[in-house]
Amino acid sequence: MICVKCGEAMRMTEKDTSSGRDIREYTCPGCGYSDWEDNGAALWKILSDDREEAEAERAARPACDGEDAQAETSAAKNAPGTSMWSRLLARLGR
Ligand SMILES: [Zn+2]
Repeated sequence: MICVKCGEAMRMTEKDTSSGRDIREYTCPGCGYSDWEDNGAALWKILSDDREEAEAERAARPACDGEDAQAETSAAKNAPGTSMWSRLLARLGR
């Protein structure tokens, strides 16, 4: 990040991802001007969303236990690409 006041390269002084966003604070060593930038969703937030999704998927499975679940499993084996694609499309749709 370049200082808007004097054009020097700013130094990152703080990185705060506690809100789920990757917020970086910079301070200019030349004039002391400080600024921050938002780098989008923090990595831990993305990872924890993935984990929550996987856990939700696992939690949904025992609900359809029995013959239906077995039929579903063999169907998934016959079409291994289906669940991956539907998951990918669901993700893109978010
Ligand atoms: Zn400066």
